[in-house]
Amino acid sequence: STVISVSDPDDEVKTTVRSVIGLLDQGVTASQIAVLYPQQNPYARQLEEHLNDSAICFSGVSSRTIADSMLGRFISSLLNLPDQNLNVKAVLNFLSNCQTRLNVDSPLSAPSTSWSQIAMAAGVTAGLEDWSEKLSRYKEQLLVTAEKERARTGDDDQASLHERKSHELDELLTFVTELNHIVDPKSLPTDWAGLCSWLRQAIERYLGSNDRVGPEKGDFVAVEQVLDQLQNLARVEPTTTLSVFRRSVEAQLEDHNERIGKLGQGVLVGDIRQAWGLNFEHTFILGLAEGIFPTAPRKNGVISDEDRAQLNGALSVSRDVTNDDHRRFLAALSSSNKNTVLFPRGDLRQHKENYPARWLEQMAERMGVPSLNEALMDSRHSWAIHQPSFISGVRNSNFPASSQEFDLASLLDGRDEGQDLATVLLNNTSSFEAGRQLIDSRNSGRFTRFDGNLSGLVNPSTVRTNVLSPTRLKQWVDCPHSYFMRHVLDVDEPESFRHEFRISALIRGSLIHEAADRFFQDQISKGTPPGPNRQYNEHDILLMRQIGMEVATELETQGLVGRPLFWKRDREQLLNDLVGILKFDNQREPRGTVVATELKFGLPDGDFPPLKRKLPSGRTVNFRGSVDRVEKTAAGTLVVVDYKTGKLDSYKQLSPDNPILGGSQLQLPLYAAAANSYLGQDVNETHASYWFTSDSQKWATKGYLVTYDVLDAFDEAIDVIVDGIEGGLFPPKPAPSSSKWTGVGKCVFCDPDALGTREIDEKWKTLSLLDSLHPYIQLRGEDAIASDEQGDDE
Ligand code: SF4
Repeated sequence: STVISVSDPDDEVKTTVRSVIGLLDQGVTASQIAVLYPQQNPYARQLEEHLNDSAICFSGVSSRTIADSMLGRFISSLLNLPDQNLNVKAVLNFLSNCQTRLNVDSPLSAPSTSWSQIAMAAGVTAGLEDWSEKLSRYKEQLLVTAEKERARTGDDDQASLHERKSHELDELLTFVTELNHIVDPKSLPTDWAGLCSWLRQAIERYLGSNDRVGPEKGDFVAVEQVLDQLQNLARVEPTTTLSVFRRSVEAQLEDHNERIGKLGQGVLVGDIRQAWGLNFEHTFILGLAEGIFPTAPRKNGVISDEDRAQLNGALSVSRDVTNDDHRRFLAALSSSNKNTVLFPRGDLRQHKENYPARWLEQMAERMGVPSLNEALMDSRHSWAIHQPSFISGVRNSNFPASSQEFDLASLLDGRDEGQDLATVLLNNTSSFEAGRQLIDSRNSGRFTRFDGNLSGLVNPSTVRTNVLSPTRLKQWVDCPHSYFMRHVLDVDEPESFRHEFRISALIRGSLIHEAADRFFQDQISKGTPPGPNRQYNEHDILLMRQIGMEVATELETQGLVGRPLFWKRDREQLLNDLVGILKFDNQREPRGTVVATELKFGLPDGDFPPLKRKLPSGRTVNFRGSVDRVEKTAAGTLVVVDYKTGKLDSYKQLSPDNPILGGSQLQLPLYAAAANSYLGQDVNETHASYWFTSDSQKWATKGYLVTYDVLDAFDEAIDVIVDGIEGGLFPPKPAPSSSKWTGVGKCVFCDPDALGTREIDEKWKTLSLLDSLHPYIQLRGEDAIASDEQGDDE
């Protein structure tokens, strides 16, 4: 016999498969080879996978039972439902276990992932009433958010996303209502035949008819047999309960292992107990480690071994298990002319170290060596092989076990021969090849497709919308790769399922904008538009507060304001800020008479068409947007005001010399140009400013006179941005390191596993020096990068 010591059970299996290939290569027929293992887990599944990967014909019992199959999991989760009162976890488990049909007439599968997200975001817990109430409320929230999104930003994609979700939500509610009816414990049959027929109908409803072809056919046939047998129990017991029925079905499904291949054809793979009386040319025995084979003795807690020993063998003692294992081992050894036994030194998954089976030490003694370890470390003992690692196994094998091992062996040989690894010929389809290209590209100083360089690969008309919005363009400036993920690939960042405790920044902003708009609309319609000398009196303040309360109540009924405890305080703060718009109005300069509020252009419900701008490159682009307030002074100055409910921090550098902060603040020039274009008769100049409308930001303003120079800077920036987007430049531009503590500017696209983005940071240093990205770097400018460092948390 040969003993091979390998790192862990994974390596045992790979080494065995490689050795089997070696034997086949020497002319041993597959049916003369046996691979035996002492435990199903982990050997059965791994052997099945690796032998299939290597296309070796084998016969044995599959590690998979019907209970593990998609159908088995479906049945188990369905049978669990009647006791759960539509508990959200049980329903989501049911949905995720297999692809259930959307409805009885539909071949489409239920979108389990997005339904799970919806149910979690809606905060569903259990019971049909709760599902119905929470989903309906969430639907209303989604529709309101969609409407607001469309009205404020004109971002149709984002708005449609919310609407699509609300449609899916309707489907989910219909599905859950039907499911509730099907698994209602009160309407379930109470006899074997009735429950079997109920289960058959449920399978047909959710998975379709059982006349399947392909690999699933066997599972459906097996389940049909199980149900046939169970319904015969009606002869023994006329009635039963769901829990007895469930336990019986599950026990039957767990007992059904599929057979692979035909006995006598191909390599025999199976439990070591099958070796009795068989005859092979070569047998591999896996798992020769204490605790695996022999199995760890289990003490019987009720009757001790000492007491059992008194009964002259009537009851087994714990060492009997070890003796049985020994007999099986000897039987397996004797079933073959040659044997290879494998000892796994540890279990890398469980961080566990193993000791060799005691029988291996006995073998070493018989070979005249004091211990197995000595034999393994001494190359003169060719019967004992120490294989230090998987890599050494691949190196020393005559033939690799799979195309992946083949590639790995080629790479190792290439490295030994000092060859450039990039030139080693690999399988084209190999994941090594794709991985090698990716690592090679990312490690190089080149700007490749793996770094977001899609120049020449994208269709310009598909990567941007016809009507541009400054908010979306800002996203490209902040990080082109995140723009690509969100707006070209339409990949959403996964929603956090944390329930919102407080009103979100978006809704907070909506409340202020909406209430201020209603107040000034009211003033304009009454023919008393506020002018620079207007002194707001108690009545005005009361009116503004009243309007604020109206909007707040609307948001409250839509469930958009968070938990009542926080909302009470937040609402007071917001109403206070709203009143401040009147109280602190005289601190702004310049001021004029209000001529428009929420002036919308290029938006679906807007008053004006999109704003056209001809850029220095000669291309004309259209813009959309909404200007919060436009005033006109007696001296003919148009005053554009944009309310900001966030922080001032990232606008501190804004000035007439730095009017767009490296392309990240495009609203003021755009809004000024729009106001001028639509309301600019008899106007000498336009002034635009952000107004930070909260006590916390001390009612600060940041703005400037919008000169031709400012508009030129804006147009040039838009040219660079549109060029970049249409030209397929989407490199990941990591957030500045100082803002990473706060998570500002970070997203999950480059860091889905939260293990960090150091490589991307490093690569960006190289990419930022490239000519192709020079216009982008120049646009951002040192000042823009510096402002980034302070965080941008509008
Ligand atoms: S993780 Fe950072 S670099 Fe990557 S896409 Fe998001 S913002 Fe850009």
